[in-house]
Amino acid sequence: MTIKVKNPIVEMDGDEMARIMWTMIKEKLLFPFLDLNLKYFDLGIKHRDDTEDRVTVEAAHAIKEIGVGVKCATITPNADRVKEYGLKKQWQSPNGTIRSLLDGTVFRKPIILKNIPPAIRNWKQPIHIGRHAYGDLYKSVEHVVGPGTAEIVFTPREGTDPVRIKIHDFEGSGVVMGIHNTEASIRSFAKACINYALFEKIDIWFATKDTISKKYQGFFRDIFAEEINNRMADIENSGLSYRYLLIDDAVAQVIKSRGGMLWACTNYDGDLMSDMVAAGFGSLGLMTSVLVSPDGKYEFEAAHGTVMRHYYEHCKGNPTSTNSMASIFAWTGAIAKRGELDGSPEVTQFARTLEEAVINTAEKGVLTKDLMLIAEPKVDKYALTEEFLDCVAENLRLSLAA
Ligand code: NAP
Ligand code: MG
Repeated sequence: MTIKVKNPIVEMDGDEMARIMWTMIKEKLLFPFLDLNLKYFDLGIKHRDDTEDRVTVEAAHAIKEIGVGVKCATITPNADRVKEYGLKKQWQSPNGTIRSLLDGTVFRKPIILKNIPPAIRNWKQPIHIGRHAYGDLYKSVEHVVGPGTAEIVFTPREGTDPVRIKIHDFEGSGVVMGIHNTEASIRSFAKACINYALFEKIDIWFATKDTISKKYQGFFRDIFAEEINNRMADIENSGLSYRYLLIDDAVAQVIKSRGGMLWACTNYDGDLMSDMVAAGFGSLGLMTSVLVSPDGKYEFEAAHGTVMRHYYEHCKGNPTSTNSMASIFAWTGAIAKRGELDGSPEVTQFARTLEEAVINTAEKGVLTKDLMLIAEPKVDKYALTEEFLDCVAENLRLSLAA
């Protein structure tokens, strides 16, 4: 007897070791138990190249239409990859393409295991990171200059004369950068953070450096505060709170905290802090990620990449011990969300049961190498990629039978 999932899920296949695990997850943990209707897009690098990357855009549109997607890690080609795979060009990052089409915010949350103590002793609950994924350093223009004057010039579309602001009079050589952000993007970031925190029932922290950058970072603080005020009744009725901090204070407070909050980060802060938090909780293989659009579309994935080094070993015929937990949780996130949107509690329940089977397997000491090295109590042997998944499947069968 399989459980029927009413509406489709957009599936985006990927590359290398992540793709190998992806297939195993479907065959061992999903297809035997669920009657799934998958709208499949092959985002593997060859197929992106063959379709001039149209497949990525089609997949993003399918998520917009269907509401729920799940994505395997994919190669973002650089010059080496173009050579390695004989590509026509360095295609854009698929995640970047999908993010900009959905106008989404990325949230990351680590999986917590009893036998994997975090690097920070007092972290008891996951620290969720919400990263504003538009603008600032990531849409900057830069210029190396000689002696001379650098200015910012703003030309209004109509009316008044251009505004000129001097950046610096250079006596020798130096470098300048121009960055920007938009009110609309900051507002949708704040809205997505509030929706996410209400859904996860966690407090919201937001931090900038507005003491130094009174206008730029102050703009973020003010817009974020306005959106919070618009939803204050919901936040308070859920027993949650909002806390604004200076970014340097936030870093210290997060380290001293028990966790259990959404840390809303500007683009650059989120880039750094999500890697720090992932490492602090044990492994990239434990970090889950979801892209949430302002109109409530969801794309789930693991935060890690294609685990290329393990794939090269796999291609040589060597056994690998790659952690599939975050990829499994990408699937359970998508399946649980589908069940919720479809009003199918048995589907959501299946996803939760699978998550418990994963956690029980790991907590019994069946661990891939990345976790075995940091487990407490120690385990003396690590599980291979496929062995771990077989143990999860066995535990899942037992829980479903009970
Ligand atoms: P990566 O695939 O995340 O792997 C970096 C290293 O982290 C691995 O070599 C491995 O360390 C460890 N690791 C990551 N995930 C693991 C897992 N599930 N289990 C065990 N160990 C794990 O990053 P990368 O090597 O920098 O990038 C490889 C490719 O992935 C690139 O082409 C990049 O474009 C792509 N990428 C895609 C995404 C995405 O689609 N979301 C994100 C990031 C990168 P050891 O080798 O020491 O065991
Ligand atoms: Mg980063």
